[in-house]
Amino acid sequence: MRLLLIEDDVNLCQQLTADLRQRGYAVDATMQGVDGAFMGETEPYDIIILDLGLPDLPGLQVLQQWRNKGIKTPVLILTARSAWHEKVEGFRTGADDYLSKPFHIEELCVRLQALIRRSSGLANGAFEIGRLRLDEATQSVFWTDSESGLDGIELTGIEFRLLRYLMLHPKRIFTATHLVEHVYDYNDEKESNVIEVYISRLRKKLGKAVICTRRNQGYYLDPDALQSQV
Ligand code: CA
Repeated sequence: MRLLLIEDDVNLCQQLTADLRQRGYAVDATMQGVDGAFMGETEPYDIIILDLGLPDLPGLQVLQQWRNKGIKTPVLILTARSAWHEKVEGFRTGADDYLSKPFHIEELCVRLQALIRRSSGLANGAFEIGRLRLDEATQSVFWTDSESGLDGIELTGIEFRLLRYLMLHPKRIFTATHLVEHVYDYNDEKESNVIEVYISRLRKKLGKAVICTRRNQGYYLDPDALQSQV
């Protein structure tokens, strides 16, 4: 998941960036509204966290600009202000959720997960496709009918990001380039064949049928293949 964080409180911005990276997000952070507005327009983010009180350009105006330009990325507003009318204004402008400071990182994370699931059309709380269940808290996967019970298969950071992205968009074919843009942040070193490497690691851990290849087009996850034993 590519995540954009726009927050001008230095400490909060650094802390959140570290916490969110640890939880499997590729985070780009900025403390400026103008920069953030531009990044939100030009990079393919899956979700955005936006502070309202910014020094150069108010968060609400940033949000307004995006929505006017048809950018539909889910936006969670983060702000010290808690007056009800400001929340109403935020939602009217096109915010998807709202969290008042101070908050607990766990609450922020479950709200982000809910927004991401909803925007991908997954309605249920469990992250499950066929027999495959992803546990975001432990960054591991389970076969729900596994004889070994609920022993999870641990994933590395990038494996987790990649599988989660594919699970959020079942049946959709993604090029390696597209996948790189959604599992790495802007400053990460990216090798062109890196996706191929991680796909093959996931197949080694979970079985060949888990991720399908469409020649010359890319990779996708086939829910039908996950209904039966692979
Ligand atoms: Ca602020």
